[in-house]
Amino acid sequence: MVRDHTRLGNFVTRFAPSPTGLLHLGHAFSALTAWQAAQAAGGEFLLRIEDIDGARARPEYEAAIYQDLAWLGLTWPGPVLRQSERVGVYAAALDQLGHLGATYPCRCTRADIRAALSAPQEGETQFHPGGAVYPGTCRGRSMAEGGPGDAIRLDLDRALAILGERELNWQETGAVHAGTHVLDPEAMRRQIGDVVLGRKDIGAAAYHLSVVVDDAGQGITHVIRGEDLFEATPIHRLLQALLELPVPVWHHHTLIRDAAGKRLAKRNDAQAIRTYREAGRTPEDVRRMMAEN
Ligand code: GLU
Repeated sequence: MVRDHTRLGNFVTRFAPSPTGLLHLGHAFSALTAWQAAQAAGGEFLLRIEDIDGARARPEYEAAIYQDLAWLGLTWPGPVLRQSERVGVYAAALDQLGHLGATYPCRCTRADIRAALSAPQEGETQFHPGGAVYPGTCRGRSMAEGGPGDAIRLDLDRALAILGERELNWQETGAVHAGTHVLDPEAMRRQIGDVVLGRKDIGAAAYHLSVVVDDAGQGITHVIRGEDLFEATPIHRLLQALLELPVPVWHHHTLIRDAAGKRLAKRNDAQAIRTYREAGRTPEDVRRMMAEN
């Protein structure tokens, strides 16, 4: 499904929750921020269910997402895009990257990666959105050598070489990082590395690939999401360049924290929108609580 957003005005945003738990106040804040931006711009607010992780996604949480967002007063046009129905689209994108020579099959287990990373010559492990930076053990294997169960990784150096001298930049409108950002290959090597993009045999895509493919497929012009995903943006921008997809504007909003200053987690049902609703609170109460947070 490719939407022609030029016909819909030039502001299309989305809320893209994963149905792996109940939505909490942080999600309400994210959804309302996107919703209000779409209203202010006379644009569109779309919903996407990121249920690509079949082991953790649950139908009851998806049902709860629809109910909780509707209770908050949000509306969205159908059909809702569900990632579990888009496996073929992600597989095609993986193939496209494979044909460019920008991927390789990786058979490392988590234990292999940990062992390689603790070897003295590998230096420090770095945190990045997908965990520790992969040490490159399988880099150089050809796609034809891939076996069942192998993960498909982005070959970051090859990807950067394919893009050559081209400067990749993007616009950010969130207050904390507002301005033009330029892709920094050195920082990417250090902090992101060869991320997993999917698993060929089961046709599964990893977050970085599915989010980029779906933002393009839904015609998203403005990605509005939490600050926790700010560090993932360079990899998304790089994948957009490789796949020749349109580049949206990003807005990373600050995260709602609990009284102890900790990020809200889905596990914490005390902060679930549903808990507030069942306690007799109104959507206005929730909006007020978020404003005060
Ligand atoms: N599914 C992601 C989450 O629930 C959000 C992805 C995005 O907004 O890019 O955290």
